Amino acid sequence: MPLPVQTPPARLGHTALRLILALLLTVVQWLCLAEAMAAEKVRLQLRWLHQFQFAGYYLALEKGFYAQAGLEVEIRPGGPGTPKPIDLLLAGDVDFAIANSGLIIARMQGQPVVALAAIMQSSPIVWIVRADSGIYTPQDLAGKRVMLMPAPESAELRITLAHEGIDLSRLEVQQTSFNPQDLLDGHTDAYDGYISNEPFWLQQHKVPYRLINPREYGVNFYNDVLTTREALLQQRPAQVEAFIQASLQGWQYALENIEESVQLIHQRYAPDKSLEHLRFEAEQLKKLIMPELVQLGHMNPGRWHAIAQSYLDLGMAEGPIELDGFLYTRQAATDHGLLYQVLAGALLALLLLGAVALRFARLTRRLRLEVMRRRQAEQELRNSNLQLEHLANTDRLTGQWSRLKLEELADNEIKRAERYGFPLALVFLDIDHFKSVNDQYGHDVGDRVLSGMAQRIKAHLRDSDSLCRWGGEEFIVLMPHTDLEQACLIAEKLRTLLAAEPLSGTISVTGSFGVAQWQPGQGLGELVHCADLMLYRAKKLGRNRVERFSPSSIRPLV
Ligand code: GH3
Ligand code: MG
Ligand code: MG
Repeated sequence: MPLPVQTPPARLGHTALRLILALLLTVVQWLCLAEAMAAEKVRLQLRWLHQFQFAGYYLALEKGFYAQAGLEVEIRPGGPGTPKPIDLLLAGDVDFAIANSGLIIARMQGQPVVALAAIMQSSPIVWIVRADSGIYTPQDLAGKRVMLMPAPESAELRITLAHEGIDLSRLEVQQTSFNPQDLLDGHTDAYDGYISNEPFWLQQHKVPYRLINPREYGVNFYNDVLTTREALLQQRPAQVEAFIQASLQGWQYALENIEESVQLIHQRYAPDKSLEHLRFEAEQLKKLIMPELVQLGHMNPGRWHAIAQSYLDLGMAEGPIELDGFLYTRQAATDHGLLYQVLAGALLALLLLGAVALRFARLTRRLRLEVMRRRQAEQELRNSNLQLEHLANTDRLTGQWSRLKLEELADNEIKRAERYGFPLALVFLDIDHFKSVNDQYGHDVGDRVLSGMAQRIKAHLRDSDSLCRWGGEEFIVLMPHTDLEQACLIAEKLRTLLAAEPLSGTISVTGSFGVAQWQPGQGLGELVHCADLMLYRAKKLGRNRVERFSPSSIRPLV
């Protein structure tokens, strides 16, 4: 049986769904690709020459943290002769810069700078004096030659003086020479430098020294603050966030793997700085970064406020302190990368769902077809079984029960007769001289006569009686609830009926009848045998007659 074909509308629906899903996938891929391609190169401006002070950024680059964040970062060193990092940042030459806490002054002056993360929780700026200088406190600096950078780079030192009530006019201020040799040569009494840098040089030269550290006088500024422009943050918030996170990851790595970082910086960035010097720097800076105590990059608004207030007090800044917009807060809302990822995830889930639904629909349809096919096959089998049964149970020529069916019917009737004691009779009928009908009119006419005769008999039987063509022109009528007497009466009626009118128009036939009643213990064979004996007897006694079985009737006829 051919399977029913899929209807065109259903197929169209599936194709359309597939097309839509494919289109959505392409859009998502395109969006992701566009986002990836949109990642521009970013430039970071350092505030001094390459050294361990910027270790986190080198490590973020070298360890691939920037690359993983989709960033291609160029790290530019600063130093003498290089413009201030904030100026380069505001001019658009770089995207990120490292600034000191003077960053807040720029902001108060209306410059659109944003503080992203403070790496050093404390400033490394100190005065270095020779141990034999007699200088122990800021007060001792009065009347001495003291190196000092212009504000705001030297803010921590200037505030220390202010806190200690020392007016600048009491010092002999010198310009920073960036050369600690001046301290050895006696060109200055107090050299302004980094706690992480020049002391190493002095140790190398075996020159005993002391530090005047602003921290010890309550001045505690942030330093090395990662910063960017406000406009850049607004345009590319995801990129800024990615840069911050990758940089902090770099810092974490650097501080946890100092020796590896020192080696790397020496090889790739600062070959002029010895490994020992870099190690010294790392050790000192780690104390200022305080990774065990403070979360890397942490900024406290209160501290920024205090720093700003110090600048105001020193007259280095003007105007109200406004930290809104200056301190970075994560702006997740416009993070398109994340949005696309979520969108891609949702669409992927939709695609999967669609695919599952499609598969499910197909399976259901296939299952439905299979069930239908099986039902049809079962019906066909039932029909052909019925046909076979009908063929086996029915005589083709006369349409009456076959011998096989009579055996089944008789079996049931004998059981019932046995169980309930009902009478059961059997009439055996054979057409007289039927051979001569065939001979005279032909076999076909003989067939019609046989068929006509069966119909005539059947029409006069009760519903409970079963008429069977036993073979040739012999028939049996099984009569439940019928005793010998009644069966003989019916047989007589049938005999009269048969002989009364010609069959097939002109052919007159008669029949001989043998009747027997079932006796307990008998099977069908024995019952038929008894009736057959009586039929034989009827033939012998002249045909066209009914003979009934009785034990005495078995004696041979003379
Ligand atoms: P009797 O009175 O002794 O029964 O004589 P008879 O000619 O009927 O003899 P018998 O019963 O021995 O022969 C049966 C004949 O019935 C033989 C055959 O030609 C005929 N016959 C048997 N079956 C069919 C049948 O299906 N169709 C036709 N046309 N004739 C059949
Ligand atoms: Mg016969
Ligand atoms: Mg016959």
